[in-house]
Amino acid sequence: MNLILIILVFTVLFGLAGALLGFAAHHFKVEESPVALRLNKVLPQTQCGQCGYAGCRQYAEALAAGEAAIDLCIPGGQSTIDELASVLNVPAVKSQASGDTKSVACIAENMCIGCGKCAASCPVDAIVGAPRMIHAVMESRCTSCRLCVSTCPTGCIAMRDLRKKPEDWNYVYPPLSLQFEGEPQREISGDY
Ligand code: SF4
Ligand code: SF4
Ligand code: SF4
Repeated sequence: MNLILIILVFTVLFGLAGALLGFAAHHFKVEESPVALRLNKVLPQTQCGQCGYAGCRQYAEALAAGEAAIDLCIPGGQSTIDELASVLNVPAVKSQASGDTKSVACIAENMCIGCGKCAASCPVDAIVGAPRMIHAVMESRCTSCRLCVSTCPTGCIAMRDLRKKPEDWNYVYPPLSLQFEGEPQREISGDY
């Protein structure tokens, strides 16, 4: 009998608490700025905190409030800066991450014990490996967020610069002067 009474009391209490929370969520909801929502959609959602904010949404809110610069998201790179600038209608700036190199996580295989902590911490699933097996980083997926580095119990993860490959190199063609018979000289620039 006592047990039934206790269950009934807890059911009523939990029901009341749920109703109160539902009421509060509906009536005291803080409306998010539509600009912040649009900015948040542009951000990579890595939640790495490299921008100095707790996550992408907090950075988007600071951007919408005019309290943050548009070049703080290192994993997002230049394309994210360009999109943020377009949403905010401000001039784009050069990414701090752009240049000839990209930084990626690298695992020293001889020290890896296969604990899987790095893979669990990677927000973009860039680390592959099975339990008690060597893990490895897929360089093309790594966003340089560094979150995995401090999770490794053996300290075998480090960031290293990935040099540009020839196929990534964007050759700037020199201007070409052309002159056909009977025509004035022409200058052509860009890809030809
Ligand atoms: S640095 Fe970029 S990806 Fe990381 S939390 Fe900030 S906005 Fe998100
Ligand atoms: S591998 Fe490491 S540095 Fe690269 S995205 Fe994953 S957590 Fe970030
Ligand atoms: S956290 Fe370190 S030891 Fe564990 S799987 Fe990853 S690289 Fe290997």
